[in-house]
Amino acid sequence: MGNGKIIEKQADGSLEVPELPEIPFIEGDGIGPDIWRATRMVIDSAVQKAFDGRRQISWLEVLAGEKGFEKTGNWLPDETLETIRNHAVAIKGPMTTPVGKGIRSLNVAIRQKLDLYACVRPVKYIESVPSPMKRPENINMVVFRENTEDLYAGIEFQAGSAEAAKMRSFLNEQMGTSLSADTGIGIKPISATNTKRLVARAIAYALENGFSSVTLMHKGNIMKFTEGAFAQWAYEVAKEKFSDHTITENELYDQFEGKQPHDKLVIKDRIADMLFQQVLLRPGEYGVIATPNLNGDYLSDALAAQVGGLGMAPGANIGDRCAVFEATHGTAPKYAGLDKVNPSSLILSGAMMLEHMGWREASELIRKALQATIQSKTVTYDLARQIDGASEVKCSEFARAIVDRIG
Ligand code: NAD
Repeated sequence: MGNGKIIEKQADGSLEVPELPEIPFIEGDGIGPDIWRATRMVIDSAVQKAFDGRRQISWLEVLAGEKGFEKTGNWLPDETLETIRNHAVAIKGPMTTPVGKGIRSLNVAIRQKLDLYACVRPVKYIESVPSPMKRPENINMVVFRENTEDLYAGIEFQAGSAEAAKMRSFLNEQMGTSLSADTGIGIKPISATNTKRLVARAIAYALENGFSSVTLMHKGNIMKFTEGAFAQWAYEVAKEKFSDHTITENELYDQFEGKQPHDKLVIKDRIADMLFQQVLLRPGEYGVIATPNLNGDYLSDALAAQVGGLGMAPGANIGDRCAVFEATHGTAPKYAGLDKVNPSSLILSGAMMLEHMGWREASELIRKALQATIQSKTVTYDLARQIDGASEVKCSEFARAIVDRIG
């Protein structure tokens, strides 16, 4: 196409989306091209159907991962980052982490370089998807994981290195610790600024989308000045920015006898290990969950398993400047090019992208058609082996079945 227009970000943070927006995509490595082709077909047909051809996406390929390396000699070209930054919205398939090539993870690099500070993972049960839960229909949570700091900041010193020795002597001599010479050291930075912007986004999302609570997941009983501070700063930002719309769990019982006023969002906190039990035993009590980086990584994969696994779990990385929607699984190299895997994770991420753009009519068509396709037991191998009487189809056939239902 090539005559698409850029989505502009307004001063108040909202998006001005033209009828023909240009959206960059990274197709990804391994199974990436298969699931991207399937996703693009589904998104295009939903947009066409929802808006009668008045709106259309002009896709713009940008290079990264193996394809980026082959064509430019660079795993993550600056031009790709610049294009995504300018376009406000982008979508990507999974990318190989180049082992021993100097980059820890391309995905982590994209999040950090574009300051995509909120990793947003909705976890909602889709009827008929096999689940290990007794009542999976009670699951409707959205994890807001801080994306830029915590142990993922990459401040690590290998045991035996000169850097570790320097850190160790500083800590032992000046800070009263007694670390042995064979200790590796990792630093866990958690700041008020980054905590508050993440939690403010989580609260705003909960209010806009009708959730009744935001739970702060932390391990502050042990890590008081990092995870404990996260919870404290989170409560502060709720008071500073949302005092008319939020109450704490203590206020719920002290002032409202435990009966939640319909116009108030409850802010509560739970210790991380306990929350892993709670989301299994009482999932209905949790809606939006805001948490530091490492907790969020563990929790979002565990929750994904409760509603059908990583092949079904969508995700987005969102910052103030731009947002990148992505499949949450990896490149599954053994299935690369076989047209076999489940494209639902990327398709549902595409639906999230359309919602972010305000094109809800199209995202709803996708969600309904995907659910109906799974209910009809027309599914890829991963679901087929768990559903009695299922007919196993290829990745592209699954997408075609969704498109037929949209049409
Ligand atoms: P993976 O998610 O690629 O695959 C693990 C297994 O999960 C697969 O073998 C397959 O059985 C199943 N699976 C994954 N996606 C599926 C789908 N859509 N449908 C059906 N089954 C699916 O994890 P891995 O093997 O640990 O990682 C492979 C590569 O992907 C590594 O290079 C890793 O660094 C990278 N990775 C990238 C991302 C990302 O781009 N966001 C995330 C995780 C891993």
